[in-house]
Amino acid sequence: MPELPEVQALVERLQAALGGAELERIVPLQFSALKTFDPPPESLLGRTLEGAGRRGKFAILEFGGPRVLVHLSQGGRADVEDPPKATKPRGAVARFLFRDHPALLVKEFGTERKAGWWVLAPGDEGPLAKLGPEPFSDQFASFVREGDDARRAHTILRDQRTVAGVGRGYSDDILHRAGLSPYAALRQLSPDDREVLLDSVRAVLEEALEVERRRTGGLPTKLGDHFTVHSRYGEPCPRCGADLRRVSYESHEITYCPVCQTRGKVLADRRLSRLVR
Ligand SMILES: [Zn+2]
Repeated sequence: MPELPEVQALVERLQAALGGAELERIVPLQFSALKTFDPPPESLLGRTLEGAGRRGKFAILEFGGPRVLVHLSQGGRADVEDPPKATKPRGAVARFLFRDHPALLVKEFGTERKAGWWVLAPGDEGPLAKLGPEPFSDQFASFVREGDDARRAHTILRDQRTVAGVGRGYSDDILHRAGLSPYAALRQLSPDDREVLLDSVRAVLEEALEVERRRTGGLPTKLGDHFTVHSRYGEPCPRCGADLRRVSYESHEITYCPVCQTRGKVLADRRLSRLVR
């Protein structure tokens, strides 16, 4: 969290609030969050924000050649300050001040996988170079339809090099919607299952984007209250009413419905079974 829908709707709001504004000042508030040293942030001052966009989970601020990338990671959030503030709230990362416009405050309430930002010279892709295709691209559609990737569906969806923009939250919801086990390997899926998976990726992200577009301002601390199953273990499955289960996998938890997704099978918790053995 935040994933594609949150970031996409956020940059649309930034575009509306700050598009065409002149960057007056950047105030770094957390030393380690700036991931680049050349070009320096000061080189952007006086430039106009020509557009705010997104690639994967990165927000991109276009300054007519040079760009600023912001990755909110797990606990990163944003405030649109109108009028701009001069405070340094807890977890503050950086403040971008624009002439006669609101300010953008990037902040962070997490402790690991922290938010970061990059200043890129024209033509430099920086961390964007490692990203896989967008979920709505033909390239990703071909991968789902024809790929023989042996990894599990949940792993594939979260891998930014395979498809950019989906994380743990929407991976849970996508697989629940598709009725597929989080442990199903892509190469073992039938053509029908693959089609359902692709439709589910698109539908879940589109619906979430619709909800996110109702927000105003920045991104609040509490996100994800519109997830269907993610983090809702113990609650009834919205489709069949069975108790949603969770399983620990690759250092995080997957929520799934054993009736809708795994034919009644309770997935083995690898962490736990390792301990038992
Ligand atoms: Zn169910």
